[in-house]
Amino acid sequence: MKVMKFGGTSVGSPERMKEVASLVTKSGEPTFIVLSAMSGTTNSLVEISDYLYKKNQEGANEVINTLEQKYYAHVDELYTTDEYKQKTNKLIEDEFNYLRSFTKDLFTSFEEKSIVAQGEVLSTNMVVNYLLEKGIKAKLLSALDFMRTDKNAEPDLHSIKEKLSVIMKENGAYQIYITQGFICKNAYGEVDNLQRGGSDYTASLIGAALEAEEIQIWTDIDGMHNNDPRIVDNTEAVRQLNFEEASELAYFGAKILHPTCIQPAKYADIPVRLKNTMEPEAEGTIINNVLIPKKIKAISAKDNITTIKVKSSRMLGSTSFLRKVFEIFESYQTSIDMISTSEVGVSMTIEDSSHLEDIVDELKMYGMVTIDKEMCIVCVVGDLDWHNVGFETIATNALKNIPVRMISYGGSNFNISFLIKSENKKEALQSLSAALFK
Ligand code: ADP
Ligand code: ASP
Ligand code: MG
Repeated sequence: MKVMKFGGTSVGSPERMKEVASLVTKSGEPTFIVLSAMSGTTNSLVEISDYLYKKNQEGANEVINTLEQKYYAHVDELYTTDEYKQKTNKLIEDEFNYLRSFTKDLFTSFEEKSIVAQGEVLSTNMVVNYLLEKGIKAKLLSALDFMRTDKNAEPDLHSIKEKLSVIMKENGAYQIYITQGFICKNAYGEVDNLQRGGSDYTASLIGAALEAEEIQIWTDIDGMHNNDPRIVDNTEAVRQLNFEEASELAYFGAKILHPTCIQPAKYADIPVRLKNTMEPEAEGTIINNVLIPKKIKAISAKDNITTIKVKSSRMLGSTSFLRKVFEIFESYQTSIDMISTSEVGVSMTIEDSSHLEDIVDELKMYGMVTIDKEMCIVCVVGDLDWHNVGFETIATNALKNIPVRMISYGGSNFNISFLIKSENKKEALQSLSAALFK
């Protein structure tokens, strides 16, 4: 079985939904499809939830009404029969009345995660109804029945596998199985999600749970490009990536993939194929365990990085200094991306700065603390094993006019990272592309 995931733009209009239906039924083989919400919907749902939080009933109702009208218009375009138009309109009415119910009494607690989950519920119901109208044997499975996270808010693959295998046994004979990306239930049985962009993660987890032959991520571009196409001109699609290379790129800012979505596929050794819904014939990118020796694949960048430097002569010769420092980050559930050490100091970068003040307060017990905000990590990814002599000189030379705050190399064989100011990001990405892919 193949798993095919379609992102927001790929289901962003009735035409796109029709195209999805044609792509998933082409092979005639049983296929499991994962859908995002129509593009823009999750943002609107977040906006509704913000209005509710601020007790702004009028604001929430305005966004709800505008979004609802958009959905009714889609129904008219998508279906041909009155039966399916009525059926889907009823579903939309129920969904939006559910959202409206939160605005009636502003003092009841509302569940933000449940509101944000409705985008995927809407898109999957619309597509399954379209497939059924066309006479295709399709089955909608609710992701809330099997997608689970554990007490650390990490996906619980064991539980997902167990639950999904029961569901698949009970629903044996369908051509298309369809479910919501992004949404799940947490260890306490509450509606939750896998963070923004999380539908990729859903697809990878389902692929691993079903031991699928391939996981396909269908989006609006022809695969992973060798640099961020939103910033650098004339980027090119990379035809093949190793799982490790793809993980590094996703983690360090290549938006085409959710940061952690490669892990389940990698552990289950299932190839991931990135494809373009707008151009289905384009080759795309295949991600597997093949490693092309000495090949530099791509460059990516991660913004909103804060650097924290702790300088202390107590570090000299100490065997517990770093442990104590790291324990402070651990106690605030804040993960460190880059580290650079000397005998008398350590510099670390974090993305989540929500506990910055507390972390800094505690770090002050160990030395002098300096903070740099609005930084950016730029990564060069490929086979950078130390036998690949000379590439770091090319990369460093490409950044010769840009102040570099930290460099990290050797943590993995696939990545060299440079920490720079965000204001220099564009120039850094452009000159690295020119130096490495000319
Ligand atoms: P979807 O809604 O299908 O999940 P996303 O918007 O999350 O799509 O991801 C696709 C977008 O990722 C592309 O339109 C592109 O602008 C952006 N992107 C950023 N870096 C890269 C890269 N290195 N290669 C390809 N796309 C990238
Ligand atoms: N709809 C969610 C979002 O916009 C999840 C996804 O598209 O992957 O973030
Ligand atoms: Mg995405």
